[in-house]
Amino acid sequence: MIVTLKSGAKKKEIDQVIAKIKELGFRPQISQGAERVVVGVIGEGNKAVTYKDTFESMPQVEMVTPISKPYKLVSRVFKKEDTVIDVRGVKIGGKNVVVMAGPCSVDTRELVLANAREIKKAGVRMLRGGAFKPRTSPYSFQGHGEPALQILADARKITGLPIISEVMDTRQVELVDRYADVLQIGARNAQNFDLLREVGRSKKAVLLKRGVAGTIEEWLMAAEYIVAHGNPNVMLCERGIRTFETATRNTLDLSAVPVAKYLSHLPVIVDPSHGVGVREFIVPMAKAAVAAGADGVIIETHPNPAVALSDAHQALLPSQMASIVKQLRAVAEAVGRTLE
Ligand code: PEP
Ligand code: MN
Repeated sequence: MIVTLKSGAKKKEIDQVIAKIKELGFRPQISQGAERVVVGVIGEGNKAVTYKDTFESMPQVEMVTPISKPYKLVSRVFKKEDTVIDVRGVKIGGKNVVVMAGPCSVDTRELVLANAREIKKAGVRMLRGGAFKPRTSPYSFQGHGEPALQILADARKITGLPIISEVMDTRQVELVDRYADVLQIGARNAQNFDLLREVGRSKKAVLLKRGVAGTIEEWLMAAEYIVAHGNPNVMLCERGIRTFETATRNTLDLSAVPVAKYLSHLPVIVDPSHGVGVREFIVPMAKAAVAAGADGVIIETHPNPAVALSDAHQALLPSQMASIVKQLRAVAEAVGRTLE
């Protein structure tokens, strides 16, 4: 349930509503909108709705809206304005479209630095790289762990690019949190509720991939876990879903972009690399993603794909990024956005 206060409500009046929420055994979640303060009444199930009249009778309350959806805090009903996440000065979710790129997995310092320097020059704003890799086969490369995070931190120091890295397990959160600016939750962990709770307790932004066979509602509920545990800085990431189609690695569901943006105020990023998994189709789908309203794209790059330790077949060259960024900027401008 959501309690919307009258515009111009004083701090004391807001505090009274919050105190009432706590007194009734619920948890308040406050969202300061452009005009009004909105307070989510969080508790188990739909019990809060029983107290609709109690809140409606408070003079500072404009209206009380029961939310029938299983997700609340991430919903547009709770917050009308787009959420803008600030990661070391890079704003995600505003008018500007953000391009993120980097290797699937971190391999050597030299290769990661060469990659980071080149993409930075091209106008990429964030560096991705896996230190812990979710691999289908237990015999495939699993990631270099902490040394990989150190390489990413070096790359950030040299280029200024904030870094995104995946955390696969609750036991890794503390470590990855110490290095990365954005914690990535991979598609295979999209419903690992303990992990979602744990990154919810972090202060770092989270890039939440959609599950391999996850519905949009399940994806939003996963985001709700993170936000409900105290971390409002969640970016949704569409990365393709499993369908009957085999010509591409996954089926990139670009309809999820306008749908997620309609249902939620969170920024939506598209990962065309995992979405199609075929080099030739990545750029067209990145352009389509921006046209569909994505707030950013994340693309895998490697200076020498022949030696990449994972996803070599879908890596683009960092030297291609300047032209890709230029093309994406043209699309962004055509749909009323910027790409700076
Ligand atoms: C990745 O980003 O390298 C990755 C493993 O992504 P996903 O979880 O979407 O498969
Ligand atoms: Mn990958």
